[in-house]
Amino acid sequence: MVPEASSVPLYYHEDYVRHEQGPGHPESPERVREILRYIKDHSLPVELREPVGITESDLELVHSAFHIRRVRDFGVGYMDPDTFHTDRTFGFCLRAAGGVVGAVKQCITERRTTFAIPRPPGHHAGADYNMGFCYLNNVALSARMAQKEFQDIEKVAIVDIDAHHGNGTNDIFNSDPSVLYISTHEWGIFPGTGHYTDVGSGKGVGMTVNLPFNGGSGDGTFITSFREIVLPILSQFGPDLLLVSFGGDAHFMDPLTTLSLSTPGYLELVRSLIDIGNKEVGGRVCVELEGGYHTYALAESFAGAIAYASRTEPVAPARFTQNMDEKGDRKHIKELIDTTASYWKL
Ligand SMILES: [Zn+2]
Repeated sequence: MVPEASSVPLYYHEDYVRHEQGPGHPESPERVREILRYIKDHSLPVELREPVGITESDLELVHSAFHIRRVRDFGVGYMDPDTFHTDRTFGFCLRAAGGVVGAVKQCITERRTTFAIPRPPGHHAGADYNMGFCYLNNVALSARMAQKEFQDIEKVAIVDIDAHHGNGTNDIFNSDPSVLYISTHEWGIFPGTGHYTDVGSGKGVGMTVNLPFNGGSGDGTFITSFREIVLPILSQFGPDLLLVSFGGDAHFMDPLTTLSLSTPGYLELVRSLIDIGNKEVGGRVCVELEGGYHTYALAESFAGAIAYASRTEPVAPARFTQNMDEKGDRKHIKELIDTTASYWKL
């Protein structure tokens, strides 16, 4: 029997397409517009939801007062060479964070997969720094608010499949044993962190799992690593909540990286996360947007995940299907397993 299609909550606000980094910047409103267009063109059943309100004291769960003031009051100019600030930026950041927090709260109360497409993204923002198009860390704040507001949420897993290492998220939870952070990313590109020997610190040793891949790595390397490392670790950790930082920039069409996931490869990864969330995390899964700069590749990958969660796939044949890494980088995966196996049964 084919399960019935059901609509999926998607957190969005018009501010997500008002935020601008300037002409020619890859982190453009078109990224979110293309996802919405894809959803509309394929009649995917989504319920658009508004972000919840976020206060400055909420932000203090993750960020220093100094950093919050800086993002609030910076004025007009570059906070770093990639990240422009205007008088409207802080308001946009609160909306972005509110979208992810809203999506996370709903996935907890209703036990079903929810989605958020915030701009600006967040995973490069640390407790007291902005970086790489990010000002405030949306996913980290959501994890902390979930732990604070829901008694039965203690252990949170964050799986970050953006092509760039989520250094902000990594740093915020580095010594925290209650938050498992797993990141797959391209080694040797921005921000330069995320070596596999960074396994966390203090009480959090083993709870940071960095899986840096060599340029060119795609479906074979990612899917094998998920099967042999990511999914077994998630099962052993047994989270109360699973958050997916979805970056579409590991796609072979992406202009900023040389990873080579195809759209079906992306969907296989996200399906496996939604499935484990349904089977082992009581349906409490939230997929939130980070990077991804080829807008159509991003749209068909992200919206494909929505289609899976709403049981309406396949929506349409994917445009970008070429598997450029069928065998996978076996030797490198073994190296990653050897390091990670000091902390997890693999
Ligand atoms: Zn990225």
